[in-house]
Amino acid sequence: MSEFFAIDIKGLKKSYGSVQALRGVNLSVKRGEILGFLGPNGAGKTTTIRCLLDLIRPQAGTIRVLGLDPAKDPVAVRSRIGYLPGELNLESNQTVKAALQYFADLRGRKIDWQYVHQLIERLELNPELQIKNLSKGNKQKVGIVQALMSKPDLLLLDEPTSGLDPLMQQEVYRLLREAKADGTTIFFSSHIISEVEAIAERVVIIREGVIVEEAEPQQLINMALRRYRVRFREPIEPLAITELAGVTIIDQQSNNELILQVEGEVDHLIKVLSSYPVSDLQSESLSLEEVFLAHYQKEQGGEQ
Ligand code: ATP
Repeated sequence: MSEFFAIDIKGLKKSYGSVQALRGVNLSVKRGEILGFLGPNGAGKTTTIRCLLDLIRPQAGTIRVLGLDPAKDPVAVRSRIGYLPGELNLESNQTVKAALQYFADLRGRKIDWQYVHQLIERLELNPELQIKNLSKGNKQKVGIVQALMSKPDLLLLDEPTSGLDPLMQQEVYRLLREAKADGTTIFFSSHIISEVEAIAERVVIIREGVIVEEAEPQQLINMALRRYRVRFREPIEPLAITELAGVTIIDQQSNNELILQVEGEVDHLIKVLSSYPVSDLQSESLSLEEVFLAHYQKEQGGEQ
């Protein structure tokens, strides 16, 4: 019943010369699901997505996309997919409007131009501007519009909100939730925890070409580390802080300032800090890479 899955991958292997990018990936995405595909740089996310579109051919494994084999039916598969690559190739002298017309012509589907205009307006994109005059964020918006414009059955998005400001990120999340409500399946790669939290229903983590974890977004957020910079009004002796479970001092700038890394809840730290003369407390969010590194270093350390 592969039609139950929008994506069904088994035993996928892909090497570039001596580099084994995918070492037996098994992955399925249910129809109508929003799946976040996470992993550190070079883990194999883009390679997986490119195999789904038959832009590159794997050496081993089977792939079904919307029930079809992309190597056998690439045109049929691509006509049902909206794809946002990491870097979209755009003709620099074209206007946004002309670029979108070009993408519409490439699709083998009827385009609802009223919907396209809504997308342009909601993303505050000026269709008359030339591509060469667009900022990185505005180019990203063109990529998002072209991915959504044919109301595809499946969206493959490589870091969908890269380069967008926070308000625009929220608008993109709304557009993706609406697409899902219309029945679209969404498979997106990301490095941003808040993005995963905002839209993913399930998360799959790839590392060094194999899937290492499958989780609910909440589990990932619980796994996340937090980092705090604490400044004190006067020099302190941090003994009570060093004794706290899950709290590590990663830098001590002076006796007046500490950088702490906290695993799990921060309640016990806040309570201990309340007995110190704290003049400033800043929280710094960690990237997914940092979270992965800390998580896996700990796991590997535990195994030895
Ligand atoms: P990122 O988050 O940095 O985009 P990724 O998870 O998408 O990374 P891939 O781009 O799929 O990772 O790369 C997986 C591995 O394959 C990396 O080691 C990368 O250097 C290598 N690789 C990717 N494309 C090629 C290529 N065309 N030729 C040689 N090696 C490649």
